[in-house]
Amino acid sequence: MAAREPAVLCRGLIKSYGSGATAVSALRGVDIAAYPGELLMLVGPSGCGKTTLISVIAGILERDQGQCSLYGRDLQSMAEAERVAFRGRNIGFVFQAFNLIPTLTVLENVSIPLLINKAGRTAAEERAALALERVGLAGREGALPGELSGGQQQRVAIARALVHEPRLVVCDEPTSALDHRTGAQVMETLRALCSGDGRTLIIVTHDSRIFGYADRIAHMDDGRIERIEEPSRQTRTTP
Ligand code: ADP
Ligand code: MG
Repeated sequence: MAAREPAVLCRGLIKSYGSGATAVSALRGVDIAAYPGELLMLVGPSGCGKTTLISVIAGILERDQGQCSLYGRDLQSMAEAERVAFRGRNIGFVFQAFNLIPTLTVLENVSIPLLINKAGRTAAEERAALALERVGLAGREGALPGELSGGQQQRVAIARALVHEPRLVVCDEPTSALDHRTGAQVMETLRALCSGDGRTLIIVTHDSRIFGYADRIAHMDDGRIERIEEPSRQTRTTP
């Protein structure tokens, strides 16, 4: 793996919120790399900086110090419009709370990344329908998110994150609003859609029941990566 060009490379990342006496240090010098084709989990207690780290990696949040590149590019050095376009082409997001737009149909929700990337509506909806089929939701295109179960809504969110075939998929606590069985199904879907074509998956979680899906597990505490665990593929379990 070491010989391959990393998808994500962070060195000495430092990030605080606020300033002066009330400043909160969220990242205190983070070194991490993620490689094409791997599922990297970022785990650790609430408040240790996981969301901050993936937000900096995804170019949503500016770092204070250190380096961070995505496929060799530093998002922070880009102009806003270029950064938005780069993110739109290369990154897919999945959130704990699904973040679907309640007034749009499932098909419309999944079409959004393509419309943002300036696809025509018909082409976008055709690809969105295929993405929904891949997550097992064919036939539910016209439903509103509120008409689906939590697990189904998260699969819609996965279809939306993957519809534009991003190289990097970033998930923040994707199973923590779901029961164990539904969470496991969501992880199966994520892994199936991300293995084999060099896509990188970074999943933030404190749900130890899904650790078995990881290729590597980076343990975070208090704004730092404490250690990186590399469960061997042979012993990797599918909970
Ligand atoms: P995690 O995702 O691991 O729970 P976060 O990255 O959300 O951790 O937060 C790391 C630290 O930064 C915490 O102490 C949190 O309270 C603080 N923090 C996060 N976001 C903000 C914010 N917008 N303003 C101020 N402090 C924040
Ligand atoms: Mg968080």
